[in-house]
Amino acid sequence: MSLFSSLKNIRGLRLTENVPLANMTTFRIGGPCRLICEPESPEAAIELFRILPELNVPYALLGNGSNTLVSDKGFDGIVIRPVSGGAAERLFGSRIRAGAGMLVPSLACFARDQGLAGLAFAQGIPGSVGGGLTMNCGAYGANIADVCESVVCVRPGGEVHTFAGSECGFGYRESIFRHEQLYILEATFVLTEGDSSAIAEDMRTYAAKRSASQPLHMPSAGSVFKRPEGYFAGKLIEDAGLKGYRIGGAEVSEKHAGFIVNAGGATAADVIALIRHIQQTVYDRFGVWLEREVCILGDVENV
Ligand SMILES: Cc1cc2nc3c(=O)[nH]c(=O)nc-3n(C[C@H](O)[C@H](O)[C@H](O)COP(=O)(O)OP(=O)(O)OC[C@H]3O[C@@H](n4cnc5c(N)ncnc54)[C@H](O)[C@@H]3O)c2cc1C
Repeated sequence: MSLFSSLKNIRGLRLTENVPLANMTTFRIGGPCRLICEPESPEAAIELFRILPELNVPYALLGNGSNTLVSDKGFDGIVIRPVSGGAAERLFGSRIRAGAGMLVPSLACFARDQGLAGLAFAQGIPGSVGGGLTMNCGAYGANIADVCESVVCVRPGGEVHTFAGSECGFGYRESIFRHEQLYILEATFVLTEGDSSAIAEDMRTYAAKRSASQPLHMPSAGSVFKRPEGYFAGKLIEDAGLKGYRIGGAEVSEKHAGFIVNAGGATAADVIALIRHIQQTVYDRFGVWLEREVCILGDVENV
């Protein structure tokens, strides 16, 4: 039985074969996958994960693809990602529940409209709630972990488990979700009462800072490297003379050296070669090894 036929009866599961993953990442890079599965609801995702082990096929998780570099060969298996969008729900007190597919900026806007403070920092982070929690996304001194009360996940086999925020192993761009076979279904955030117009003002300030300092008009995956202890990756790369350095279509952004942009027709191989070049050059100049933040989907050589 084909993969498609095995899954086509799951209600609320969108299936598309041979999808070019480039279209599903902000880098706009990457080959196809055999099948993309997009659960429209937690129930559809749970049913998919229940039968996943029987399919005996490799699978990978994706959110909004804003921190992911996909191999040029793509991925010979299933890519699972929640249908993008969805609504958040205000819960008792100052809490909000959101599905994994909701975009982080939409969640920040929902919180603002509810007069709830604590997510203004996230207005310009172009990820999904699932990807944001996995990466513990953050900006301007705040991280999503700071406001995460609990996360509901499903494992292969279909077991659903709720993790308290303190059980998620959150660290700097880290969580257990990066390392364990857990698909995030939804999460609850605990915020503080605030004033919508003051929150909106904070969001405008952050948006202005971003557009002044980041190459938002070009395809990228945001900061490629983690911030090394005591340094800023972008500053090290700039001081190493690498701003504007290019391999194929991949270029160190002129605007923010911590970003690699797809300046036109970049391949994953170009990006990987540029990452290696940056790591080696910065190490030779400053003795600091830059650790990659961007996730890899598919088969690429180690970086
Ligand atoms: C212009 C730009 C600006 C950015 N600015 C910031 C910033 O200020 N701060 C910051 O932290 N990041 C920033 N990023 C990076 C990125 O937006 C964040 O890391 C974001 O949280 C990634 O979310 P995503 O849904 O796109 O994840 P993806 O890239 O799709 O996936 C990232 C990881 O999460 C996993 N994952 C995704 N969904 C799920 C799920 N439902 N269950 C389990 N695992 C899942 C994937 O398997 C992968 O390992 C920026 C990126 C861009 C392009």
